Amino acid sequence: MRELDDRTVRQIAAGEVVERPASVVKELVENSLDADAGRISVAVDAGGTEGVRVRDDGVGMDRESVRRAVEEHTTSKIDGIDDLEAGVGTLGFRGEALHTIGAVARLAIRTKPRARPTDDASDRSSGGRDASGTELRVEGGEVTGVDPAGCPVGTVVEVEDLFFNTPARKKFLKTTATEFDHVNTVVTHYALANPDVAISLEHDGREVFATEGRGSLRSAVLSVYGREVAESMIDVGYEPSVDGSDSDAASDGGPIDRVRGLVSHPETTRSTREYLSTFVNGRYVTDAVLREAVLEAYDGQLAGDRYPFAVLFVDVPADTVDVNVHPRKMEIRFDDESGVRAAVADAVRTALLDEGLVRSTAPRG
Ligand code: ADP
Ligand code: MG
Repeated sequence: MRELDDRTVRQIAAGEVVERPASVVKELVENSLDADAGRISVAVDAGGTEGVRVRDDGVGMDRESVRRAVEEHTTSKIDGIDDLEAGVGTLGFRGEALHTIGAVARLAIRTKPRARPTDDASDRSSGGRDASGTELRVEGGEVTGVDPAGCPVGTVVEVEDLFFNTPARKKFLKTTATEFDHVNTVVTHYALANPDVAISLEHDGREVFATEGRGSLRSAVLSVYGREVAESMIDVGYEPSVDGSDSDAASDGGPIDRVRGLVSHPETTRSTREYLSTFVNGRYVTDAVLREAVLEAYDGQLAGDRYPFAVLFVDVPADTVDVNVHPRKMEIRFDDESGVRAAVADAVRTALLDEGLVRSTAPRG
């Protein structure tokens, strides 16, 4: 038996976080959202297998912070386990993404912090592009450079040659088209979940979509899925606290706090379930209970093997859902599955009924 060297241990650990280009994109976009970005541009080459670049106009980092950011288990987001138990408002908090990406790729970060009020004048006179930014480079886990750089406020993270030093892992990557599909799915879900942030995606130099970031979900749907889909979308809005007489779920302590979003006309469908996007407490989740609830609401109006578009945000009390079912946190488990299912189906059915698109309220229970 042999003890694994540090480098190997690092590379194995990296595989848990970074499985494919889409996982890199996910971590970087989450960091940009956590950094209060108003605009996030994602550009990938060859499905992300050759390069991933995420640019934001967020708070940025000073030289010391960016150095620390690529070290192991460094995060600016929590101080300790007490914060974890109190519940974290930010998306990332384990402090391992940049470190692990740096271990299995060539990583370059160019970043400049937002000016404090007193820095304002000097910043403006240089057009905000003086060399007060920092460029940091990491290759296969080693920091290879930290230099002053002229760059706008915010952060650009470039990841090239993913898995260049872990050929076994690289072999598991699928075709460019498949890897790009995964990237597209990730960016689409963040764009839909954050209509107040302008999020764009580019593949091999061509724009795939760009949302406006003006806060409208319907306009984000228009940017991502196109006009035909956006125009067919019906508003779902269900707030027990506002509409207290509506149903059992409305009373305090019901299974859900709120459901809102958009679902498509029963004739605007696709042949896969991948356009049924559900978010619980703001996070994208793949949850069979929610998907079934949406389908049930269509009450037989969908053609066989056709699935609607849905972008549905379900808020439930945090202590009634287990988000740690899966390490990548896309799967969840509700304490009261049947209650959630009934309430969500009810909300969607009510929206479709209002438009005269389903016949009547199906018997509940
Ligand atoms: P985590 O997000 O879990 O804290 P990461 O490795 O993803 O861990 O990031 C480490 C730290 O680097 C973050 O806590 C944050 O302080 C900083 N950081 C990362 N990306 C950005 C960004 N785009 N803008 C500003 N700061 C960032
Ligand atoms: Mg992070």
